[in-house]
Amino acid sequence: MIIDLRSDTVTKPSKEMLQAMLEASVGDDVYKEDITVNKLEETIAEMFGKPKALFFPTGTMANQAAINLHTKPGEQVICDKYAHIYNFEGGGASFNSGVSCKLIDGDRGMFTAEDVLQNINPPDFYHSPLTSLVEIENTTNKGGGACWDFEEIQKIRKVCNDHQLGFHLDGARLWNALIAKKETAAQYGKEFDTISVCLSKGLGCPIGSVLVGDEELMQGALRVRKILGGGMRQVGYLAAAGLYALEHHINRLEVDHNKAKEIAYVLSKVSYIKKVEPVETNIIIFELVDTVNSEEFLKKLNENGIKLIGMGENKLRIVTHIDYTSKMHTKVLKVFNNY
Ligand SMILES: *Cc1c(COP(=O)(O)O)cnc(C)c1O
Repeated sequence: MIIDLRSDTVTKPSKEMLQAMLEASVGDDVYKEDITVNKLEETIAEMFGKPKALFFPTGTMANQAAINLHTKPGEQVICDKYAHIYNFEGGGASFNSGVSCKLIDGDRGMFTAEDVLQNINPPDFYHSPLTSLVEIENTTNKGGGACWDFEEIQKIRKVCNDHQLGFHLDGARLWNALIAKKETAAQYGKEFDTISVCLSKGLGCPIGSVLVGDEELMQGALRVRKILGGGMRQVGYLAAAGLYALEHHINRLEVDHNKAKEIAYVLSKVSYIKKVEPVETNIIIFELVDTVNSEEFLKKLNENGIKLIGMGENKLRIVTHIDYTSKMHTKVLKVFNNY
């Protein structure tokens, strides 16, 4: 038994999901003739109370399209130093859109409206890049699955309105935040100009992300997606997995969250661990004591069939997901307890 806790992207589609994919009606989505893709886009747009949604192959492409829609070359995006768009999208913000990032030194990937205010360059001071977009992540990936305080988001929205800035949410794991905080997609739709969500993380699909936004921006998104090479043809087979997941895999995220909390509890009790970061959703980041080497620790776990990833600085990450069964969970707790 291999227990893969490196990420929630390692899941494989269930029989039921595969069946839904097999039965999908498809067409050429570049001509917008794939009724399953259209249905997925309409369903997600409706959930967020936004006029339009667009299916993307990856979350990276959806975020990159959003950045492109909100900015012009030379401009600047405000985001946290932990942001996925800054750290893990291959430098795409500069490559695709010619923009720089103004990094905020936040807390677990989160910052305040006051931080945003202090990082907006004065628009008439033409020596500095023009600030045009604020981007946040919920839940935060590098921040250990932390959830934003919704009121702070509303305050940032206000700052964006006052300074004519776009506001984009990287919601790769927004579903986890919605479940953990008992919030709704519609709530988020009201505060952001654009939101990207992943189907391929906690929701267990093999592929797929969706970008939602207002009519005019999303008209542009169709063009940008094509430019980035994301115009896909009979892709309803993949959209069908998304529709299946929206119906069956959202509420169950609580199971992943509970398992993560149970693992964190065990880790907080053992002597070889220095610190476990607070767990709110499905990600656990913890730090080994200085006398335990992370490479060696990972190797020992591997010998027990358990896979995690290192994050540098003797820190490790665990992500729970739909394919992480109760039987696996029992074993993991036992291995950690007895290490
Ligand atoms: C996974 C992830 C993405 C998108 O990743 P893809 O692998 O391109 O789908 C974007 N933002 C965050 C925070 C993520 O965790």
